[in-house]
Amino acid sequence: MSRSVLVTGGNRGIGLAIARAFAAQGDRVAVTHRGSGAPDGLLGVECDVTDPAAVDAAFAEVEAAQGPVEVLVANAGITDDTLLLRMTDEQFSRVLDANLTGAFRVAQRASKGMLRKRYGRIVFISSVVGLAGGAGQVNYAASKAGMVGVARSIARELGTRNITANVVAPGFITTDMTDALPEERRKQILAQVPAGRYGTTEEIAAAVTFLASDAAAYITGAVLPVDGGLGMGH
Ligand code: NDP
Repeated sequence: MSRSVLVTGGNRGIGLAIARAFAAQGDRVAVTHRGSGAPDGLLGVECDVTDPAAVDAAFAEVEAAQGPVEVLVANAGITDDTLLLRMTDEQFSRVLDANLTGAFRVAQRASKGMLRKRYGRIVFISSVVGLAGGAGQVNYAASKAGMVGVARSIARELGTRNITANVVAPGFITTDMTDALPEERRKQILAQVPAGRYGTTEEIAAAVTFLASDAAAYITGAVLPVDGGLGMGH
């Protein structure tokens, strides 16, 4: 069964691996981008998730091209790290708006079509940092922890309509986001990962496609860590 899938921030990194995994299993897949264009074989829609009108327009474009979104992956995210005392109001709000309010916006818009279809799978890409906290990351950690509350509330609201909402909490995955970390910090992180290595984007994609599959129909409101054991106990 081919489904209509939308992955925000699916033009690169973890989102692109997720989009490719759905496409490989025969789904019709759209990704949002902010001007970079669409990767080969995927439908690209221009959308900044901080702009509600752009979110609505992007969904309309996806609906016209491949039908109402049945699987939504809220993956778009940014970091803007600094210590608590130095963090400005603007830095805090900007990260919350992109990561958490952005995820709320796309989930709300997707839910309209899902309710009509009596079917939907929503997966939020959070982070181990949302559960364990991260020094210098109060904005990012708050945004990622907030996703758990959003997902679990949606799970309660829409559960009887055959709509699930789950969270994947990646640990340290090799992408542009982690490539930007200083070498010393990368070493410190690896020393704390029981698996002793970074994860791959494909390992995140495997968890997301599972949560969106029929086999996972009875899993909702769950937080699935894919972190090599880094966040154990949280
Ligand atoms: P990247 O920095 O490689 O990619 C981020 C993606 O989000 C890009 O596609 C970017 O679009 C998009 N994006 C950012 N802001 C917006 C916005 N306002 N509107 C629309 N799209 C936006 O990150 P990763 O692939 O590493 O991360 C993907 C997700 O996984 C993020 O939510 C991140 O927090 C989470 N994560 C990543 C981990 C890691 O180790 N890499 C660990 C835990 C969680 P554009 O190309 O236009 O900039």
